[in-house]
Amino acid sequence: MDPRKDTWKEADKLEWLAKQTLQRSYAEQVLTRIEKLKQAGDHLKILPYGNLTLQGREELAIDGTTLTAQEYQDRYPLYYAEVGDITDSKPNIIITGGTHGYEESGVYGALEFLEKDAANYSDHFSFMVFPCISPFAFEVNQRWTHDAWDPNRSFDRSKPYVPEAQLVMDVLDKAHKSIGRDFAAAVDLHETPDRDKTMMPPQYQRYGINLTADDILIPNGYYLISNVANRSPQMATKIIESVRKVTPIAPDPEIHGEKNEEGVVISKGDSPTHQGLNQAYMKTISDNSFTTEIYPEIHSEPRGSQEAIAAQRATIHGVLDYLANN
Ligand SMILES: [Zn+2]
Repeated sequence: MDPRKDTWKEADKLEWLAKQTLQRSYAEQVLTRIEKLKQAGDHLKILPYGNLTLQGREELAIDGTTLTAQEYQDRYPLYYAEVGDITDSKPNIIITGGTHGYEESGVYGALEFLEKDAANYSDHFSFMVFPCISPFAFEVNQRWTHDAWDPNRSFDRSKPYVPEAQLVMDVLDKAHKSIGRDFAAAVDLHETPDRDKTMMPPQYQRYGINLTADDILIPNGYYLISNVANRSPQMATKIIESVRKVTPIAPDPEIHGEKNEEGVVISKGDSPTHQGLNQAYMKTISDNSFTTEIYPEIHSEPRGSQEAIAAQRATIHGVLDYLANN
């Protein structure tokens, strides 16, 4: 989706917004868990990093409710977790969930990692974990922000201001500076659900690309997008080894025009379509950056199933296994 070919105006955005409904509660499903994590122990700190804002709109009508700019802001406070001390000499890892708010196993995977794993790893690693980058999209179960931007094309300061992406970059740029070296790895947790077949074609249409549901590939299992410039290419192999134990790896020989080698797809990330990817930004501050793509409907469990969440956690375990042994 070439941003230069965007055909949408304000009226199109409002028409899209009018069709959205509130399907999940950020307060109940995310903030209550974050609140509990504040008591998890000395290894973990919960830190605020701002709020989503309506950016000039005075109110937002959504699903029969009208939120004022202040109510919108109060509804979406943003938090990240710092595990251990990122400025000491241990390998430091960035984890992001909910870059696409509708891909819920990323949100729940990041939260479960903090709840169940972080304490076990904090002697050897430090982490910055952003469990739910796009809470508005999480609630309306969509890819986009209230202003109809894709957060995963907005990690780029030359593009329109999207708080979901820019506020994360603000925190990480500052952390990167204070650490004085690159992060060891960054993992962005995504999934590719069946619903993409109906959701993606209209979104491509906005950029003048005509596709049908049949053109949208849903790989039949997990795959990992590894950045072409990663310093430890073998880390991807270790991740696949770890994930294979909890969910099948996609057998498709090619995914989005790139070779799929045992579940690893190398992203060159240099086309206008890829401008502003979370992974591309993370590569500027970390030695290795990855994007997970889990197929949550591989079995008949409901979306966000334990298996998809386990695969997100297994990805992180793979990174840590590699770093512990190399
Ligand atoms: Zn995604």
